[in-house]
Amino acid sequence: MNLNRKKNKIHRSYLMSCVIKLNKNTILFHHFLQKKQLSLNMSVPYVNVHSHFVEASNVVGVFQATSNVVNRPFSIGIHPQFSEVFHARVEQLLHPFCIAIGECGLDKRSKTPMNEQLLIFEKQIECSEKFKLPLILHCVKSWEEVRAIHRSMNPQMPWIFHGFNKVQLLDQVVSTGIIPSFGVSLCHNEKLLDASMDLDLTQFFLETDDAKLNVSVVYNVMAKGKKINLDTLKLAQYKQFKKVFVKWKNG
Ligand SMILES: [Zn+2]
Repeated sequence: MNLNRKKNKIHRSYLMSCVIKLNKNTILFHHFLQKKQLSLNMSVPYVNVHSHFVEASNVVGVFQATSNVVNRPFSIGIHPQFSEVFHARVEQLLHPFCIAIGECGLDKRSKTPMNEQLLIFEKQIECSEKFKLPLILHCVKSWEEVRAIHRSMNPQMPWIFHGFNKVQLLDQVVSTGIIPSFGVSLCHNEKLLDASMDLDLTQFFLETDDAKLNVSVVYNVMAKGKKINLDTLKLAQYKQFKKVFVKWKNG
């Protein structure tokens, strides 16, 4: 067999194994959704858009995956403190459970040089657009840079500014079209809670990030602040979640 024919054969069998793997994952995903649908029919779930821990069954969580995760919705990305090559994970982006890119972004506290961070971040923005996945943004002391990139790349997919806690930036972030996501800071930062009162129920998300906490705690603080029923908040958040996380096909 000449070299080209041999290469083609290897390529074909590689593609075939990818198709088989993806089909298997799709079946797993649909089983997961069916099971989830049964429990969701009973009540509206909490949504936690960014968590490093596996969630309770009454929570739709976007789990930040660090390795292959096949049994729940996850996001995948390179945190700005690392400088891995992003295309190493492209196969995972095709996984039916992968519903977002991230967390990724820019962080001036990171030891990774800013020019490297920018390069890795831009690659992930390109993937977010190409694979039609929303992007979970990590931004520390880099808002001006992030805003400039957002302006120049003009992404069509939504960005979620996770762990948002800079009151003075809230208006700018919202007017840029980026969705702030509040975590535990909401529980002890009164100014942040006050500022979030101006947002309507579809203009933000809630999360727990790396805190070992049930997201219901953050929901209760927000519902109390807004003087609304907890179920009203849950319903609005779940509706918005389904709109933004387009790969989440659960009803
Ligand atoms: Zn995180």
